[in-house]
Amino acid sequence: MTQNNIGWNFQNSYLKLADIMVSKLPPVPVKNPKVVLYNAQLEQELGLNFSSLDEQEKASYLSGNTIPEQTTPWAEAYAGHQFGHLTMLGDGRAVVLGEHIAPNKKRFDIQFKGSGVTPYSRSGDGRAALGPMLREYIISEAIHFLNIPTSRSLAVVTTGEDVVRETILPGAILTRVAASHIRVGTFEFVAAQKDINTLQELIMYCIDRHYQELKGQKNPALQLFRAVMNRHADLIVNYMRVGFIHGVLNTDNVAISGESIDYGPCAFMDSYDPKTKFSSIDQQGRYAYGNQPIIAKWNMARFAETLIPLIDVDLNKAIEMLEEEVNEFSKIYINKSLEMMRNKLGIKGGVEEDSLLIKELLTWMQNNKADYTNTFVSIMNETFDQPVYQDQAFQECYKKLRIRKPNRETMRKNNPLVIPRNYQVEDSLKLAHEGNFESVASLLSVLRNPYNNSNNIKQFQDPGPASSIPYQTFCGT
Ligand code: AMP
Ligand code: MG
Repeated sequence: MTQNNIGWNFQNSYLKLADIMVSKLPPVPVKNPKVVLYNAQLEQELGLNFSSLDEQEKASYLSGNTIPEQTTPWAEAYAGHQFGHLTMLGDGRAVVLGEHIAPNKKRFDIQFKGSGVTPYSRSGDGRAALGPMLREYIISEAIHFLNIPTSRSLAVVTTGEDVVRETILPGAILTRVAASHIRVGTFEFVAAQKDINTLQELIMYCIDRHYQELKGQKNPALQLFRAVMNRHADLIVNYMRVGFIHGVLNTDNVAISGESIDYGPCAFMDSYDPKTKFSSIDQQGRYAYGNQPIIAKWNMARFAETLIPLIDVDLNKAIEMLEEEVNEFSKIYINKSLEMMRNKLGIKGGVEEDSLLIKELLTWMQNNKADYTNTFVSIMNETFDQPVYQDQAFQECYKKLRIRKPNRETMRKNNPLVIPRNYQVEDSLKLAHEGNFESVASLLSVLRNPYNNSNNIKQFQDPGPASSIPYQTFCGT
């Protein structure tokens, strides 16, 4: 079987960068791969066609047991500030199979996550467990259909091997599809080598791959910084719009493309509270819902530091210039965030007037533990059957909103009817562990249409029972 039967069109540009950027190596073969989740829609978008293969051959390709002829897989080197501390990392449990060019000419990294040890594995086993890989598949697809730029998921295969965590779990590999896997941490890695030539090459490479509009402009490093910061502000505004908490916004999980990547202990907020966090490792709430904008700025400051030598020959001047740029983040974010909240409410007015109304509504939600998603949906649909909306403070706030004649069309595009509810994700994962993938599939089918769905979605809108034990997510490493 050659790659042409499947439709692979590999053109591996990343390998043209300096040798220190990658370690070339194939995935470590697995015992008995079996495809348990497959994204036929994404297959089509990528111009791939696995239908000529039998299940065993397909699983062999999607586990990395068989490597298509025209590619040489690699693991990428990167560093990252994890919870504030710089560490040398790299793909310790992933390899990029290659860069596939889709029929629309877009370039995608095809990456296997859970593919075995690499030179960057440190003490890890290079493997991943089924639950977290299914979780990444579900959440990344949900984020995509919420109209947020993100890596996507083509398949999950079980490996037929156990992985040892706190308990013994079934091993799995996720096929992740991303615009690239270049991170702020990739720049931190290169900066730490003090290799200016490679840094310069990486900047030009990123412009060429992700920011074509910047080609030929003066001071490419500064231009790239601005563009990345803008896309990153957009991404965080989108997270805030849908109540998403990434959970580990370490600089190694911040993609230069502006896509959302690396779904570990992430989850969606039910009742509105800026302090909401789910990750068991995030003791201090560094990555809590309401902290995400400030953390994004912090991450951009780390990115800026890597660029200093290429901004100006006078390093003090370079630092000054970058400081100014980083400080712009707050202004950029506030403007984008206000626009986003206006869209959720379907209003357009003066800055102060709108900000006050938004604040009033959010404060009410927080004080009354109102569901973030459902409150906007209730306002949009003017259905207030839940007792919480009988509260006088809400009624008053709603009255002010109505006077503004909200635009329903705008609201509809910005307020999801459904999000992945934590207990539903957990329930479907539990069933999947018992070999039943129907519930994952039906959850995914609802999440694929979050804005305009009239099909029996009621059960998917239920925030679930308030539990005495707060919901917790784990890294799954
Ligand atoms: P993540 O939490 O997925 O962003 O991963 C952080 C770092 O830990 C990355 O360098 C990963 O490659 C590495 N890592 C995570 N899990 C494993 C594992 N099971 N084996 C080896 N490296 C891992
Ligand atoms: Mg990561």
